[in-house]
Amino acid sequence: MAPRIALIAHDGRKQAMVALAQEFATLLAGCTLCATGTTGQRLQDEVGLVVERLLSGPLGGDLQIGARLAVGGLDAVIFLRDPMTAQPHEPDINALVRACDVHDVPCATNVSGARLMLRQIALQAGIG
Ligand code: PGA
Repeated sequence: MAPRIALIAHDGRKQAMVALAQEFATLLAGCTLCATGTTGQRLQDEVGLVVERLLSGPLGGDLQIGARLAVGGLDAVIFLRDPMTAQPHEPDINALVRACDVHDVPCATNVSGARLMLRQIALQAGIG
């Protein structure tokens, strides 16, 4: 089965997410991707990836991703949080990160961690 990865980026980190996805485009094209609404739109438009778009984060997208991983539906999460800006959906963000910890799903919250994670996924999956 292709690796199943969720991608989320706060507004201040969306450009970094696009750049990361461009760097790993070959790998990500071989994965099953889902993303919060606006992040997914940018990945589709600017990187050309096929992405299942869920709700926007502030409208419940983080919770959808958390629910999915809680039932074993995801292998990894890349969640580029903006550490400098308060978010209206802080409880949802905490719930998602907590769900990753509860279910031991790898979660990268910055670009360097995401690079390490994606390189390992590429090795394990033999793609990228
Ligand atoms: P978005 O959601 O991708 O729809 O912007 C992410 C967020 O801000 O939580």
